[in-house]
Amino acid sequence: MAEETIFSKIIRKEIPADILYQDELVTAFRDISPKAPTHILIVPNVLIPTVNEVEAEHEQALGRLFTVARKLAAEAGLSEDGYRLIMNCNRHGGQEVYHIHMHLLGGRPLGPMLAR
Ligand code: AMP
Repeated sequence: MAEETIFSKIIRKEIPADILYQDELVTAFRDISPKAPTHILIVPNVLIPTVNEVEAEHEQALGRLFTVARKLAAEAGLSEDGYRLIMNCNRHGGQEVYHIHMHLLGGRPLGPMLAR
């Protein structure tokens, strides 16, 4: 069994977070340390530690990440100018919380995809 992270507690509403959306598959909440004017995390409710543990049974929840990202980006007024969706994996990817999550970032030009 994978070890729970703080995100499981946010999903169960055991600790506070600025939750923008929740359904039976995913939860979206504002990043506590925003890197852009809009910085939202969209997470599957089921604990999947990294993309390395993704299985076919997760496809519905992981697809939902995108439809919720599209909806929240539109609500934040980001659709036309654009935004960035990021999912980090393990050390080289810069993953800090081992419960996969999609970052939705926007509200300013975000610059090149990677710093050298
Ligand atoms: P990553 O580096 O892709 O694992 O991203 C983890 C993200 O989770 C970071 O952007 C953190 O700022 C964010 N984060 C960590 N703890 C919390 C929390 N309690 N509420 C909201 N966001 C959090």
